[in-house]
Amino acid sequence: MNFTNSDEFRKYGHQLIDLLADHLALQTSGKGHCMPYMEADDLYEKWSPKLAEGYDRIEDFWQDVLAHSISLHNPKYIGHQVNGPAYIGALGGLMASYLNNGGAVYEMGMAMTIFERFMIEQIASKAGLDDKAEGFFTSGGTLANLSALLAARQKAFAQFSDPENKKWAVMVSEQSHYSVDRAAKTMGWGNEGIIHIPVDDRCKMRTDLLEEQLRDARANDIEVVAVVGSACTTSTGSFDDLEAIADFCQKHDLWFHVDAAHGGANMFSKKLKPIIKGIEKADSFIFDFHKLLLTPALATAVIFKNGEDSYRAFTERAAYLLSDEKDWYNLGKRTYECTKNMMILKVMNIWFHHGPEQIEAYLDKIHRVTKEAAQWIDQQSDFEVALSPESNILCFRYLPGEESKANEANLYLREKILQEGEFYIVKTVIKGKHYLRTTLLSPLTELSHFQELITKIRELSIPL
Ligand SMILES: *Cc1c(COP(=O)(O)O)cnc(C)c1O
Repeated sequence: MNFTNSDEFRKYGHQLIDLLADHLALQTSGKGHCMPYMEADDLYEKWSPKLAEGYDRIEDFWQDVLAHSISLHNPKYIGHQVNGPAYIGALGGLMASYLNNGGAVYEMGMAMTIFERFMIEQIASKAGLDDKAEGFFTSGGTLANLSALLAARQKAFAQFSDPENKKWAVMVSEQSHYSVDRAAKTMGWGNEGIIHIPVDDRCKMRTDLLEEQLRDARANDIEVVAVVGSACTTSTGSFDDLEAIADFCQKHDLWFHVDAAHGGANMFSKKLKPIIKGIEKADSFIFDFHKLLLTPALATAVIFKNGEDSYRAFTERAAYLLSDEKDWYNLGKRTYECTKNMMILKVMNIWFHHGPEQIEAYLDKIHRVTKEAAQWIDQQSDFEVALSPESNILCFRYLPGEESKANEANLYLREKILQEGEFYIVKTVIKGKHYLRTTLLSPLTELSHFQELITKIRELSIPL
């Protein structure tokens, strides 16, 4: 048994990096399809005999993995919000996997504990918070929203002697990410536990309705714990008016949480930052480094304006691990995870190797190209842009001439593009209309790629 031979580690490590570097060179050239799509049943049937037989050479296995994986590094990958990570971030991931420091207690992850605090302080300062702010990293936006809302709940519960006998809810726009609904359900609240606020024609929360929605909730004996702003929404990339929500929360003494999983990264750009104005008034906010910041998944920051609140979510004690003091350096006290991935190492590698200026230039570029693409597509008489983009998410649809056939046509197109594999895009529904949805994350994607996509769509004959 040779699980730990350092010579072999070196040998196979070099082989794997060579293979991945070749893959990266091909994919970033824009040649090669980014999506080798096969139906799940077909792929299982094809591959499972080989899996049962096994691979003599691990290199052959690696080749097969690449052959059946979507490539996020291709500039024609403009689908979901997960990025093709910066190579140095991927290497940071390798280092994290090798070191495998869990970090629930300080001594099991000294470096990562220091890095988390450093990066949380960077974020707090970018967001305009003072030194009371604290936070941590956790495994994804879904868990991050739950962690913040659990803290909000604990704080609200503390004001009542019989909180378990009350009905509770959070308020959030009807366009919010489903993780907020899941958080409410995980906290044991049913459908009444989530109050969906309607959106305006730009898919932003109708903050003018908050007062009456709160009155209605209270009339039904429901206590509102928090209002959640979206910055931005997943479907259309629309930013809620965070200042208005902050004012409302302050007036009624409610917790203000911002789900900035996608758009929180804007704070790293001087040009883009104004759109998240008001985030500094939030009691808590989250954002994903694995969306707009070129970091391998998962790496999500959770920030609390008052650091004390960051200890609220999980009060159970595991005495053998943790003492009773609020020791900032034992991260497991504040996170859902016990053993945690060294996610911060991926972030720090990018931070030091590329630096904040390059990150800012990258953010500015992807937003600029998204705007250019929107303007160009909107000028095409057979296409329509859903909303002028506020982020790097752009939804548009093909107009087949007759409105009654538009939904069917766009569903067909998305399916065809998936099967064909040169581009990868997704779809969404806005007010009953089906749109093609794109998220521009590659630093290599240009307007010309969107133009190629439109040409391709025009060449597909739609059977209507
Ligand atoms: C992506 C996203 C999430 C979920 O984040 P994961 O890291 O995928 O768990 C939550 N909220 C918003 C607005 C998102 O865009």
